[in-house]
Amino acid sequence: MAALVDRVLQEVDAARDEIVEFAAELVRVPSVNPPGEAYQECARVLGDRLERLGCEVRYLVADDRPEHSERYPRVNVVGALAGSAPSGGPVLHLNGHLDVVPPGHGWTMDPWEGVVRDGRLYGRGSSDMKAGLAAAVFALEALRRAGVSLAGTVEISGTADEESGGHAGVAWLAEQGHLTSARTDYVIIPEPFGPGRICVGHRGVYWFDLVTRGRTAHGSMPFLGVNAIDSMSRVLDAVRDELVPRLADRETRLPVVPDPARRATLNLNAIEGGQTGPAAQTPCVPDRCVVTFDRRVLPEESLDAVMAEIDEIVAAVGVDCARFDRMVVPPVRTPDNGPLVQALAAAVETVVDAPAQEVASPGTYDHKHVTRIGGIEQCVAYGPGTLEQAHQPDEWCKVEDIVQATKVLALTTHALVG
Ligand SMILES: [Zn+2]
Repeated sequence: MAALVDRVLQEVDAARDEIVEFAAELVRVPSVNPPGEAYQECARVLGDRLERLGCEVRYLVADDRPEHSERYPRVNVVGALAGSAPSGGPVLHLNGHLDVVPPGHGWTMDPWEGVVRDGRLYGRGSSDMKAGLAAAVFALEALRRAGVSLAGTVEISGTADEESGGHAGVAWLAEQGHLTSARTDYVIIPEPFGPGRICVGHRGVYWFDLVTRGRTAHGSMPFLGVNAIDSMSRVLDAVRDELVPRLADRETRLPVVPDPARRATLNLNAIEGGQTGPAAQTPCVPDRCVVTFDRRVLPEESLDAVMAEIDEIVAAVGVDCARFDRMVVPPVRTPDNGPLVQALAAAVETVVDAPAQEVASPGTYDHKHVTRIGGIEQCVAYGPGTLEQAHQPDEWCKVEDIVQATKVLALTTHALVG
């Protein structure tokens, strides 16, 4: 066993440059979402590599989803390497998202060049999460090169739209029966939590709008109308003074990182009211104002109570204000001490030489679809990179992290399906 582990780790070390080059190749495909640019090309880069690994590769297009169009096809790719067990053996699925967020401002380099400098791979998507996809592919490649034959099946998928909710990606694969508890035992999502950390879930999300209504009138005689923006400013005062301090007092037992995200939080995402935009202004009292809030929900909170609390605070203001749901995502949590977490933790200890740290994500990711739609409880996120680099200008991922995470994924794969 020790000899096998050594062989696998040596194969990963020997493949170091290839792994980084493959991650860079993925970074060079600007699969920007929105709008969902170059999915086909990005899926093809991954699919071609999986074919060379001996996988049976399928391209699954979510063409029944409203996000899909001819210009922006929602392409997912799944490669499967069947095991030697006659009964099929256990199935491990490694899933990464193909999309990256737009580069945004503040870059000091080309976000699509994929250069390595001072031991870091730079570029949009390097941490989030093309290095993770490369680590998954080369974990399997290292096992193959080390002559390890697996009893169970390993699948590797690259999917669309994680950054915009994953409905044409992982959610769709689960709905179509490609990623369900009937055929999949374990799922690892190599999101960037770093080589020493295992992510076991995330807080819930409640996005909602508050809409105040007033009565329009001529702007020279505002006393004849009811100003919806004035009403909203009173609502916002109440939210800031009463709701936000209450949330800061609540802390979850879920090990969310960074620490301040262990609390319930509320972000004011957007506000719109009156005559916005470049059009010429007319003197009118605004009769409608809309704000969008992002409330992050702790597993210890109930969604009904979360909504009731908002309604109670808003009602006390005494203005015409209604609440509308935008998106609800319940919290998810991998069961404690399952075989997946145990196998990963043991591999982390071998490779990183320190106990694995269990964490939870401040934001939501595709784990929710795997568990809620696919019914697969044995799901975690584990991969190279750092969360703090995600969506930042000059995004990077440490080369050493990529190598370590590849080793951990290889040993975990062997432990689970070997
Ligand atoms: Zn990501």
